[in-house]
Amino acid sequence: TEHVVIAGASLAGLHAAEALREYGFGGRITLVGAEPHPPYDRPALSKRVLTGRLSADDTGLPRSRDLDAQWRLGVAAQGLDRQSRTVHLADSSSITYDKLLIATGARARSWPDPAEAALDGVFGIRTSDDARALAARLAARPRRVLVIGSGFIGSETASVCRELGLEVTVVERSPAPLTGALGVPAGIAAARLQRAHGVDLRTGTSVLALEGDDAGRLCRALLSDGTALDVDIAVVALGAIRNVEWLDGSGLAVSDLGAHCDSFCRAIDTNGVPDDDVLVAGDVACWPHPLFDEGPLAVEHWDNAIRQARIAAATMLHGPVRAHTALPTFWSNQFGVNIKVVGVPSRADQVAVVQGSVEDGAFVAAYGRGGRVVGALAVDTPRALDAYAAMIAERASFPPVLNAADGPDPVRV
Ligand code: FAD
Repeated sequence: TEHVVIAGASLAGLHAAEALREYGFGGRITLVGAEPHPPYDRPALSKRVLTGRLSADDTGLPRSRDLDAQWRLGVAAQGLDRQSRTVHLADSSSITYDKLLIATGARARSWPDPAEAALDGVFGIRTSDDARALAARLAARPRRVLVIGSGFIGSETASVCRELGLEVTVVERSPAPLTGALGVPAGIAAARLQRAHGVDLRTGTSVLALEGDDAGRLCRALLSDGTALDVDIAVVALGAIRNVEWLDGSGLAVSDLGAHCDSFCRAIDTNGVPDDDVLVAGDVACWPHPLFDEGPLAVEHWDNAIRQARIAAATMLHGPVRAHTALPTFWSNQFGVNIKVVGVPSRADQVAVVQGSVEDGAFVAAYGRGGRVVGALAVDTPRALDAYAAMIAERASFPPVLNAADGPDPVRV
């Protein structure tokens, strides 16, 4: 292999490049990134950057070594021709590769009405530019912030607003926050926590429309329950969309879940055949995980991006030897609590509190599917998760048996 091209210059792209050098690759590496910025720390954006404790300019990711790589920043990959091993770029130039890594991640789902989305005061939060702009507006102390959607990023944003002493209304279509990732019981605990911190949380409700004043500034939001809210700022936190459009016509298998690959990170073509020269890693990837076999797994988390990038680098150099079988893990900080997750709670059909209590605010919940442990959530008890990670890996039966005398009562979700 002479020339490795990495499309997407963020967490997965950087770690793949570092791993290639660590594993002794001496050829050329080119990183192509749509954003003008070198790789930066996205998790900090909805936490320390929004509070103002960290400048968006200071979020650059540390480098473990000199990469001796070429950086093509501010230019997106626009097309892939696998026959000629060519990546076409947005500036009409093209690059040929011996091995290609697809690491184009995901982007924020934008507000569906483009005119409303363009109102001054409507923000997304995925890039450092988004966070820089939003942090500046929060520092100017808006009267009321509306957060649309209460997944992790929406909840973290609401938490920061309360920390800053700002009035915040969260509108969530589901019956509770975080239910998509963690299910209803944990969501109910999250709702209690948010309200205790002064969040005006409206669940089971949607935002129907955003309205602007004559100057094009956001001023009002209309909700499905008939209320109208006066708001200065709306943060759209409706989840992410994988950046796979540039792969149209490449013959690779792509879907809403991302670019499909095998457990060695080799891209799969539409006939189901892996391409040895095109690898996939990070938020853009989905792949069959041996422990979660109900279809391809797509994971939008930090740890996964790094691990998968390192596997992709190993496959580039040595072929399909190391498989990506690590358990997904995830953390979040909000409303003064530390949340850690292992496994895939979103695929569970049962959940039980197995340690502590939801009322006390420190607890562990285990998640089951088909009578097996598939995930665990720890709230303010981070060290508890190792035992559950082992149970997930061993396909232990659910509910987990910790202390035979007082086993947990599972509930359906
Ligand atoms: P991305 O970081 O999405 O990077 C993809 C890059 O590719 C982007 O820079 C993009 O501009 C670029 N790109 C896109 N299309 C093209 C193209 N056609 N050509 C070239 N370049 C392209 N995870 C956690 O585990 N814990 C957290 O607390 C946490 N907090 C988060 C908070 C926020 C606000 C966000 C946005 C994410 C958070 N995450 C968290 C998720 C974590 O940041 C992602 O899992 C990680 O960034 C994935 O890295 P990636 O390199 O796969 O993709």
